[in-house]
Amino acid sequence: MIKNIAVIRGDGIGPEIVEQALRVLDRVAELYGHTFNYTDVDMGGCAIDKHGDPLPPSELQKCVESDSVLLGAVGGNKWNDVPATMRPEKGLLRLRAGMGVYSNNRPAKIWPQLADASPLKGEIVERGIDFIIVRELIGGIYFGEHKTENGVATDVLRYSEAEIERIGRIGFETAQKRSRRLCSVEKSNVLDSSRLWKKVMHRLAEEYPDVELSDMLVDNCAMQIVKDPSQFDVIVTENMFGDILSDEASMITGSIGMIPSSSLGATTCGLYEPIHGSAPDIAGQDKANPVGTILSAAMMLRFSFDMKDEADAIERAVSDYLDAGYRTADIMSEGKTLVGCTECGRIIAENIKV
Ligand code: NAD
Repeated sequence: MIKNIAVIRGDGIGPEIVEQALRVLDRVAELYGHTFNYTDVDMGGCAIDKHGDPLPPSELQKCVESDSVLLGAVGGNKWNDVPATMRPEKGLLRLRAGMGVYSNNRPAKIWPQLADASPLKGEIVERGIDFIIVRELIGGIYFGEHKTENGVATDVLRYSEAEIERIGRIGFETAQKRSRRLCSVEKSNVLDSSRLWKKVMHRLAEEYPDVELSDMLVDNCAMQIVKDPSQFDVIVTENMFGDILSDEASMITGSIGMIPSSSLGATTCGLYEPIHGSAPDIAGQDKANPVGTILSAAMMLRFSFDMKDEADAIERAVSDYLDAGYRTADIMSEGKTLVGCTECGRIIAENIKV
């Protein structure tokens, strides 16, 4: 198969981690007889420096025309003082909206080899952590009107039934492929948008009788994720709640550097990125963990290119790398072998088998 991948290296550790993911993709291409063509796209701080814009329309166009997009991370202190509309993160919001990717999918799964890196008690971790947060990505308060007038700041939180329905369906369909348990998270005791959310989810539930739907208030959900994460299979929620809960969920799995994500809309052209930021504190030092980006590339193969065997091969290669005792600095523990970003990518690429 021939696939055209738009590659956004971005800022900070972005270029280093993306390089290792491309190395792994190249190895997959070689072993499985595919061709992956890469088109570099400028986004984030580096695009501000080069074009005066965090995502010029021509760069967004390259993403929309690709078969999928692989992103490292954007942002850094250097661009803290640029106007709000020109910040590196604005490039990311415009990319998501421009690609129409309304569903963000983040697995919270603990690797057995890293169980001791979880900040939760052993007895809680032993019950298992393996759930997915499906987050609405291009609606809600992040995309409502923002204004500050006469010392009063306003951010508008707005959802239509259609926006809730399309993300709700992704939640039900994701649950159908797993343990068929879907937890809808909202704040219906306070917010109108949440009451509409709950109503739409229950209407949809009638179309998915094989999925068990439950409701949970977002504040309770934040507690339950640390109290007993094993109760969750799939969580579906709106944009801001999903942003916060998915960071919490990633924390309990041990390392932010290990977790991939996918964002999809109505087509198979998806956006794949690790969940962490550009980590300016370790940029350029060959210390970053590239596994989240490598696993994001695996998700791209699985969800956008229908290459299940190839995705499985990458995930096995990561597991073998951990089994062999290699660790980057962020997950290093006694008795393990410390490796840098480049060496990590090299070993995982070498581990890939047909
Ligand atoms: P961060 O995720 O970049 O870093 C938080 C901590 O985790 C740091 O100590 C960092 O060294 C560590 N870390 C992150 N990824 C790692 C990896 N792969 N390997 C090893 N350690 C890793 O969050 P931050 O420091 O709050 O943000 C830094 C910049 O990134 C900011 O400009 C922020 O706006 C931006 N950001 C970008 C994205 C994105 O591009 N999607 C997401 C979040 C933050």
